[in-house]
Amino acid sequence: MPISLYNSLSRRTEPFLPLDPNRVTVYLCGPTVYNYVHIGNARGPAVFDVLVKLLRRHYAGVVYARNITDVDDKINAAALEQGVPIGQITSRFAQAYREDMAGLGIAPPDVEPHATAHIGQITAMIQTLIANGHAYEAEGHVLFDVASYSAYGALSGRDTDELIAGARVEVAPYKRNPTDFVLWKPSTPELPGWDSPWGRGRPGWHIECSAMSAAHLGETIDIHAGGVDLQFPHHENEIAQSTCAHGGKVFARWWLHNGMLTFDGRKMSKSLGNVLHVHELLKQHPHEALRLLLLRGHYRQPLDWSDAAVAQAISTLDGWYRVLRELSGVIVDMIQPLPVPERLEAALCDDLNTPQALAELSLLADAARQAPSAGSKAALLGGGAALGLLQQDPEAWFKQAGGNAVDATRVETLLEERRAARAARDFARADAIREELTSMGVVIEDGAQGTRWSVVKH
Ligand SMILES: [Zn+2]
Repeated sequence: MPISLYNSLSRRTEPFLPLDPNRVTVYLCGPTVYNYVHIGNARGPAVFDVLVKLLRRHYAGVVYARNITDVDDKINAAALEQGVPIGQITSRFAQAYREDMAGLGIAPPDVEPHATAHIGQITAMIQTLIANGHAYEAEGHVLFDVASYSAYGALSGRDTDELIAGARVEVAPYKRNPTDFVLWKPSTPELPGWDSPWGRGRPGWHIECSAMSAAHLGETIDIHAGGVDLQFPHHENEIAQSTCAHGGKVFARWWLHNGMLTFDGRKMSKSLGNVLHVHELLKQHPHEALRLLLLRGHYRQPLDWSDAAVAQAISTLDGWYRVLRELSGVIVDMIQPLPVPERLEAALCDDLNTPQALAELSLLADAARQAPSAGSKAALLGGGAALGLLQQDPEAWFKQAGGNAVDATRVETLLEERRAARAARDFARADAIREELTSMGVVIEDGAQGTRWSVVKH
């Protein structure tokens, strides 16, 4: 089944054909680690996790890199403010980031390059750019000479005159042109710095992705992904640097950009006080509900987050897990990984159409409910796995409240007492126990197979 992907550079959906099917290369711009990330920051990692899983099913080898930006002015400011070395801040928040991503069921990348571990590659690339006439040194800075690269602006569809007219670039006395951007900048003694041919300094942000991508994936890669907010200037600058440093070779063959996330229709920002941190959300809600919500919109569209949408995601998963619970006695021949049903796979192959894939998953759940069998259960589980959903034991799903499990032993003890009370026809006691369970957020259903319980999550 062929995969097609929308390429932001050509502005078309094109059949995806990697350069080397044994080594498909994917690079995603990762976080700048100085704070906890919010749920909007998790959208790219979540959707591209589904993409990488898809690629791994189709190709013999995939190398997926997601970097860590561990030197940056925001990090420096945080370190100065707290009076600690930058490494203390970056190692803490890089680890928090890994935990947040793992919490959302996002697989770690194959390579997680850190900028500070690639200063040698970065300075070498800058030297090449200077030697090729694409960069120049001025007052301890090295700048990329935008005028030297005629294709500049092709990705974002901007031309340099427009940029200057719009005054959207920093004007500095050491720049030949206002659009020129920094590859290297000098560091004062209190700032982190490395020795270089241009004095002690530190890299600009854009150059690190060009250098790390080349170091780990090669000069031409198959897919470069990131948020649409990075398209300009970050990705535009990456293309300019890499293409000019590598003799005009294509840098990334496909550019994929995910849309931004809003909260109740508004941008998530500190000043609006509506920032939802991943580690907080994971304490409040089951992680698969958060993941489902991240995948519910098409990745290229904006996505709106709201409490109602979280509740909706939980109730959708409740429905699917109810089917799996009904089928708990049905043994699935555990070929791992379970095959992904064709229509769901086709939706993902069509520019990662996750809303369609989720609709297919609902149909698979309906089919399994109507015709329970090992085959229909395997199809539901296989489809869920492609999206990183339905990975829990259904009993565990129903017994978790928010992100945490309730005291199952306590619930079972109360249920046992209730059974005894009912057997003794002590209905007042039985009702009192039911009320106590309700106050714990536990709902009970009496059925032919005994009493089942679950936890209300919203
Ligand atoms: Zn980047």
